[in-house]
Amino acid sequence: MSLQAVRGTRDIFGPEMSAWHRAEQIFRSVTDAFSYSEFRTPMFESTELFKRGIGEDTDVVGKEMYTFEDRGGDSLTLRPEMTAPIVRAMIEHSYLRHHPTTRLWYAGPQFRYDRPQKGRYRQFHQFGAECIGSPYPESDVEVILLANEVLQRVGITKYTLELNSLGTADVRLAYRTALVEYLTSNADGLSVDSQRRITTNPLRVLDSKEERDRAIISGAPLLSSFLDEASSAHLAAVRALLDVAGVSYVMNPLLVRGLDYYNHTVFEFTTNELGTQNAIGGGGRYDPLFAMLGGGDVPAVGFSIGIERLLLLYEAEHGGWGESSINGVYVCAIGDAALLPVHVLAARLRKRGLHVVTDVMRRSVKAQMKDANREQVRWVVMIGEDELAQGTAVVKNMESGEQRTIAQHELESVLL
Ligand code: AMP
Repeated sequence: MSLQAVRGTRDIFGPEMSAWHRAEQIFRSVTDAFSYSEFRTPMFESTELFKRGIGEDTDVVGKEMYTFEDRGGDSLTLRPEMTAPIVRAMIEHSYLRHHPTTRLWYAGPQFRYDRPQKGRYRQFHQFGAECIGSPYPESDVEVILLANEVLQRVGITKYTLELNSLGTADVRLAYRTALVEYLTSNADGLSVDSQRRITTNPLRVLDSKEERDRAIISGAPLLSSFLDEASSAHLAAVRALLDVAGVSYVMNPLLVRGLDYYNHTVFEFTTNELGTQNAIGGGGRYDPLFAMLGGGDVPAVGFSIGIERLLLLYEAEHGGWGESSINGVYVCAIGDAALLPVHVLAARLRKRGLHVVTDVMRRSVKAQMKDANREQVRWVVMIGEDELAQGTAVVKNMESGEQRTIAQHELESVLL
């Protein structure tokens, strides 16, 4: 049997890789513009972190984690998301003592044992940001604007920002009671999964995509009618700030997000272009999380965007991964005498920071020119016996086709 990548994982290469590089560049420049610093945490953590942080009754912890015992008998889990690890790190390093308002971003692989399909993988990548320390709606909107700026700069347009408020813990408790009552009295019509969630995680029933559940959900009480004054004021301020920023959004009263740690603002960027995997990214305020992990009372808000889905949406909207840039120089040897000098010249140009390709297959000039086309270089520099004797080189501009002979010591001034 031939060896293959594990189900739900994928290799990234070729033109798609160029699209990743462009996206990663955008993550860096947008986070820099918003003054967010990069933070990297380990790929695996103690299982306890996710159980406590995300909640045992969530899908992620209940059925999607890659959990294993290491040789020392410790239970470890490949990270399924980044917020709990970042909060763990903030607490561990007493980071907030020196940085009361902390702005961080991250990008990297996450692991969930999900049913693989287009846009849903078992190893996928997220880009995200967290604004830690502020209870105010300004920080909610700051992270939404950051995410929105990334989506726009990547060049996608066919998405919607959906917004909702989960209110405070008290609000959710009162709502939960009303919702459980309603769902219990309609349990017969619900799917098996949703019936189970009535006791484990009733708010998640609102997320269900099952046809039979949708009809019942449409008659369920709405969290918005349970919001207290402070929660309503917080939501109103978020909306007002989005309005002045000129960012459009729709209110989605059924948006709950899957994890236990959210309160007040929750949001999602959705699209109709990717079939059932319609969420490109999402996030919200997670004031309870620090306390859940033993870090005291620290308000925070953040989001994460799935990089695969972001790029799939780009591909769907643009019909491809986009052009890779034409760049650099191909140094071509004409005849055996030029083999060594070409490599000396290539080394000299690389030291000046140029992207340089040479032939390592001892091919004909014709084959080297074909190779240069494939490599999408801007210039070809040719050196043969005549050029060696005269200290010159033939320089060809691959875009215009124009070709001329210049002194070798002038090469940098033309190519750089
Ligand atoms: P979540 O925190 O679950 O809402 O995930 C945030 C974003 O990560 C989603 O909106 C998706 O874009 C992406 N994502 C989550 N799970 C997967 C997966 N299994 N495969 C690919 N992308 C995912």
